[in-house]
Amino acid sequence: MNDYLAKAYAFDGKVRLYAARSTQLVSEAQKIHGLWPSSSAALGRLLTGSVIMGAMYQDDHELTIRIESDGPIEGMVVTTDAHGHVRGYVGNPKLSFQNNDGKINVSHAVGSGRMHVTKDLKVRDIFTSTATLQTGEIAEDMAYYFTASEQIPSAVGLGVKVNTDSSIVNAGGFILQRMPGCPDETIELIEARLNKMKSTTTMLDEGYTPEAMIQEITQGDHQLLHTMPIAYQCDCNREKFERGLLSLGSGQLKTIKEEDGEIETVCHFCRTAYHFDEAAIERLIEEADNQNK
Ligand SMILES: [Zn+2]
Repeated sequence: MNDYLAKAYAFDGKVRLYAARSTQLVSEAQKIHGLWPSSSAALGRLLTGSVIMGAMYQDDHELTIRIESDGPIEGMVVTTDAHGHVRGYVGNPKLSFQNNDGKINVSHAVGSGRMHVTKDLKVRDIFTSTATLQTGEIAEDMAYYFTASEQIPSAVGLGVKVNTDSSIVNAGGFILQRMPGCPDETIELIEARLNKMKSTTTMLDEGYTPEAMIQEITQGDHQLLHTMPIAYQCDCNREKFERGLLSLGSGQLKTIKEEDGEIETVCHFCRTAYHFDEAAIERLIEEADNQNK
């Protein structure tokens, strides 16, 4: 089953709803980074919530969601666009904490801190807004971010279920947002339904599609707008790393060449290694010198 998200308007257009199944993309992240259960659940929830957040925008927007916190996870970074592509990494991939009921503990791994959301609109403006983490469980933190920083009251549910061998059973989530003019009775009705609703991972276990999750919340009072595939995707390439190295300037490149003889760079998001041998560094030094002429 492929990953995708579904978008709908509900309750007379007064509520906007997104739901996603992200099992494969979270599995991809788990394999790339060798994530243990708490790190998987934390990053998987953030990847899922972020790819949905990205889908709220259009065109060339790029979003970076950064968790800066004091827990052993040592922070997380996720980048996403408006077309369902997402990638991310954690400071510490090897964390596994359990609650007394055997469930994966995420909040202890994350700790307290802040969520920064940077929007690159690709024209010239870059905006960053920040919200304090509420629980470190990611879903509540995102809901608070939308409500406090974007003034859009929201409810967020995110879940990642992990096997004992650390592989991913399922992952997914939903974001529900109150639109202007939404009556309080509608919000009360939704809150009552959300309180009674099964967890995201239970729904996915039972074979719920994103559309079925939306149906569970609206009981049919919605209009499905569209669906979109979502996937873990990194757009790094050798040229990007070359540009980064060039920005060091020829002086520093010469020092590296003399001291190390080679450069090994690894992409944080996909762990692809790019190797620059002595001849490659010499070419970069030449290019850096030419740029300064
Ligand atoms: Zn990469």
